[in-house]
Parts: sequence; structure tokens; C-alpha cells
Amino acid sequence: MRILLSNDDGIMAPGLLALRRALAELGDVTVVAPTVAQSAVGHAITLTDPIRVHRVDLGDGAKGYGVNGRPADCVKLALLELMPEPPDLVASGVNLGTNLGINVLYSGTVAAAVEGAFFGVPSVAVSIEDSDAVDYDGAAAIARRIIDQMMARGGKTPLLLNVNVPDLAAGPPKGIRVVPQSMKGFNEGWERRSDPRGRTYYWMTGNQEGEDHGVDSDVAAFDEGYVTVTPLRFDLTDRHRIDNVRGWDLRL
Ligand code: MN
Repeated sequence: MRILLSNDDGIMAPGLLALRRALAELGDVTVVAPTVAQSAVGHAITLTDPIRVHRVDLGDGAKGYGVNGRPADCVKLALLELMPEPPDLVASGVNLGTNLGINVLYSGTVAAAVEGAFFGVPSVAVSIEDSDAVDYDGAAAIARRIIDQMMARGGKTPLLLNVNVPDLAAGPPKGIRVVPQSMKGFNEGWERRSDPRGRTYYWMTGNQEGEDHGVDSDVAAFDEGYVTVTPLRFDLTDRHRIDNVRGWDLRL
């Protein structure tokens, strides 16, 4: 199996290195990742700057391609230029910090996987909860087992999965839940401050993790201690409202 691995935390991120080691048990892994961290850039791409690629020693004998671009650039470039043959799988992560609920739309980690899905390649984004003792190898092992099962069942059907792993130092997860993305907003605000020159600036506050108890969602299942798996699609069309909006009889 040929695997393309990317992320948004940068090519030297420990989560990427852990996932590379775990996926090497499944096949040949090509690493193409941003040279510098690109968290929360979403599905941004680089249109007006040159993209340069450097061979990077990953420190464990393996080499990767460092790209001065966004996660989506990395996957696009890998699929069209860097890989001699298309991969069977695109993996992204392991990201430091969860990508649950509406965070999915801000996530560079998920964007890299979505980019793989644009090309019809089965793709998986993997994230682990931030904590004092992040067990990347544990998360990568869980991801590898999920990918194994996905590839065995999914066959050639393109599929896009978002996987989130709770803090493993707090104990083993209760299990795996396949759940829809929470639509709850963040618990957030802004702090207004003055810079040393007396000009106002703003700093985002609160936390970017919503709460969503008692419902069937990724946020709720994750809070209960489960590894969450959410099949995603990139068609953002609100199909239930198509007929409704057509019924407005919009005119020029
Ligand atoms: Mn990140």
C-alpha cells in the first residue's frame, strides 16, 4: 500500500513522526508536510507565492519533503508532482489538539485529508487531545488499526474519516464511536488590549472546544472518553433547503 502522510503541525512534529512509524507497518509512506506549523489555516492554498520543496531528514532514518506551503498545498503537490504513483491512502496528523465539531472547518489537519478526498483517495485525519503527556505513539497505533479496518472494508470507495483520540495518559479510551460532527459553537470571546503605542488590539479568548451533552455528536462522545470517528464530505450544500430556496423564486 502506498501512503501519503501530511499534517499541519509541521514536518518535524512528533505526531507526524509517530504516525509515519505506525503506517510504515502498512506500506510505503511518503511524507510531504509544511516546513513550518500551519495550524488553523483551514483549506487555504498558496496562489501567488512560489512553493519550494526540501528533502528533510526526519531523524529516524526516514526522509520527507518539507514544503513552504499550506497543508492542502502539500497534498496537492504530492499527488500531482512528488509521488510517482497515486497513493492508496492519504493520512494527516497526528495533530496536537482535537478537531471536533466546527473546528473541523478551521483545521489544516482535516484540510489535508479533504484534499486527498478531492482526488478520490481514501483519506483520514487524526488528532489527539492536548495534555501534559501526549501519547502520539498510542494515538498512531489506534489510527493504524482504524485505517486497517477502513481499507479492508472500504476497498476502493473513496472515504474521508476524521478521527479524534482522547488523552491516553488519563486511561484507555472507552471504545470507538462513529458520530456526526457537532454543530455547537465555541465558548469564546475577545479581549481588547492596548499595545505599547496605545493602539487597540484584540486577542481571542475563551476556549475553542464547545460542549454538547446528551446528543449524538463527536464532541459529546469524545467528552465521554471515546475515540470518535466521523465520516466527512466536502459537499457543503444544504440539500434539505435546496427546494425551499428554489421556492423563493429568486429574480434578477
Ligand atoms: Mn495543528
